[in-house]
Amino acid sequence: MSRSYFPIGGLGLKLIAAFLLVIVVGVAVTAILANQATTSEFRLYMFRGGMGSAGQVRAALAEYYAQRGSWAGVEAVFEADMGQMGMMGRFGRGPMGPMMSATMMGSDLALANASGRIVYSPQGRAGQQASSAELENGLPILVNGRRVGTLLGSALPLTAQDQAFLDQVNRAILVSGLIAGGLALILGAVLAASITAPLRRLRAAAEAIAQGRLDQRVPPGLPDEIGALSAAFNRMAEGLAQAEELRRRMVADIAHELRTPLSVIQAQVEALLDGVFPADAEHIRPIHEETLLLRRLVDDLRTLALADAGQLQLERAPTDVAGLVQRAVFRFQPQALEKGVTLTAEVASDLPTLKLDAQRMDQVLGILLDNALRYTPAGGRVCVRVERRGQDGRLYLGVSDTGPGIPAEDLPHVFDRFWRGEKSRSRAGGGSGLGLAIAKQLVEAHGGRLWAESTPGQGSTFFMELPVPKV
Ligand code: ADP
Repeated sequence: MSRSYFPIGGLGLKLIAAFLLVIVVGVAVTAILANQATTSEFRLYMFRGGMGSAGQVRAALAEYYAQRGSWAGVEAVFEADMGQMGMMGRFGRGPMGPMMSATMMGSDLALANASGRIVYSPQGRAGQQASSAELENGLPILVNGRRVGTLLGSALPLTAQDQAFLDQVNRAILVSGLIAGGLALILGAVLAASITAPLRRLRAAAEAIAQGRLDQRVPPGLPDEIGALSAAFNRMAEGLAQAEELRRRMVADIAHELRTPLSVIQAQVEALLDGVFPADAEHIRPIHEETLLLRRLVDDLRTLALADAGQLQLERAPTDVAGLVQRAVFRFQPQALEKGVTLTAEVASDLPTLKLDAQRMDQVLGILLDNALRYTPAGGRVCVRVERRGQDGRLYLGVSDTGPGIPAEDLPHVFDRFWRGEKSRSRAGGGSGLGLAIAKQLVEAHGGRLWAESTPGQGSTFFMELPVPKV
């Protein structure tokens, strides 16, 4: 695990490398562009400044062209010297400053026309085509915004001093590049550490969870993508912990539920084998009853397991809901009579025929009626009401009783597996705590809802809502 304590891992190094790459590319581009610009500006500076009044020559040439409309006889402009100021009068207007001769400028200034052909050259290049580099480095001569020619300078080699100046510029660029690179390294490291630290915590927590330590949580951090990832991770860990807790409880509950009937069967069979009881119907019946209990428990567990796996097969067929409810109520009348409880049904007349698994729905009604009768004391009432409600005419079924009711804090749990209000009493009554869990699964498999409302001391109502498809 030593790797996880190293502040910068693969991602961090990539981030720093990306930072450095951007800086190196940026500095390189800047250096190349700055060098090019500096060199050409420098040449231009020498061309303009070092050669004194090339600008003035250019102005004189522009003036000349403006007046003549061509470069014919332009040599005169170059050949005129300082003393020949009178020449200015020939084609110049107003004061144009000292006019230098080409000789005096100590250079070999040449002139190319608009198409780049040399029209004047002290080295006899007249008539040749100027190279594009020459034209690019030359001074354009503009008349009314149109380029009518280019004053060409000579490609003077840079002096040692000039070169030193350029080297200094390059050094400055290099130094600033190095400083920027160093800063990028530091900033990249800080940024990388701030990004990778929560990721490393997440990885450590995920590894711990993989090893079964489900209590792992990570600090929520900033409200950014990593923060959202941390929150999602915590929710996942919470879900896993709950699922694991549920699984453990289920296994413990199942073992517990199986133990009681098995113990009874074992004791009973041993007594029979030892000859303590005769093997007659009276002594074998309890074994049969416990076997039936075990069978029911296993069937219930199987139903829940199928529902969990989404493999609960419903055999839906058009079912007359009113008839279904009335038959169920009729079936429970003897039980109600025996307990001294009044069992009634209020079934609306406009109930539809729904495509239901009648056997499963009967099972649901059985669970609700069995519970209602079991928890309602003698003299109480149990009423089943079925009607359509709402604009879409949903089917509502309510099983109300006048039993003890369910405390508000228990209401959310009554549909949990193996949950029982008063454990000892319910177990004595034969309940395993799976009834409502199964009923809920079956109703939901039909696309409906099952919930409970209760006023402790006055009774409870279990509601079922079923969708009615539009015809
Ligand atoms: P059981 O097999 O124990 O009845 P159920 O899942 O059917 O299991 O019910 C779970 C618990 O819900 C019961 O133990 C009981 O505490 C409570 N309960 C269910 N129906 C009623 C009711 N009509 N009145 C009061 N409590 C009820």
